Amino acid sequence: MVHPATQIPSFSDAVQFHGHTCPGLALGYRAALIALEELRSDPSHDEELVAVVENDACGIDALQVVTGCTAGKGNLIFLDYGKHVYTLINRRKGKAVRVATKPSFSTASLDPAFGDLRSKVMSGNATAEELEEFEKHRDAVCQAILTVPYPELFSVRRVDMQVPATATIYKSVPCDCCGEMVSEHRAITVSGNTLCIPCSKKKE
Ligand SMILES: [Zn+2]
Ligand SMILES: [Zn+2]
Repeated sequence: MVHPATQIPSFSDAVQFHGHTCPGLALGYRAALIALEELRSDPSHDEELVAVVENDACGIDALQVVTGCTAGKGNLIFLDYGKHVYTLINRRKGKAVRVATKPSFSTASLDPAFGDLRSKVMSGNATAEELEEFEKHRDAVCQAILTVPYPELFSVRRVDMQVPATATIYKSVPCDCCGEMVSEHRAITVSGNTLCIPCSKKKE
């Protein structure tokens, strides 16, 4: 353990925040733990962490709980790449670590029965027995993700990272089309009008 004295939020804390348990959440939880450990960062005392996430799936919720990097604080940067990759930056130390899910990883490789059961449950045609069976397998898959040696799941490497500037407070300006206020750095000028993004798309 890197921080025996620090209370890192548990997986159940992440489940509570996310609303359900699922393999994606477990994967994000494990990735966040590994990144913290690699950076030897302490989320409760270190306000200098920035996370860069490359998907908008379940795992992000666990990462927010574990690292304290959140969308609202501006230290969670979302790149819409559809990749299960998480980069954690320690701004103060100037260090960054990139945790990427390996191609060899799949829930099916951990538990071949899980996928079939999940499809059954998703289709809405599962019996009570199948649902119970699904939950058992789902919990086992999550447990495996949380406990197998991490090289089975992720490749982890140090990266040089352009450290993003500290969150800036931008002035808001009214949109000339809908009249709603929009942050200046997201406003778009179209033939002399200041527009918000949705209005600028309507005008195209
Ligand atoms: Zn989920
Ligand atoms: Zn508008």
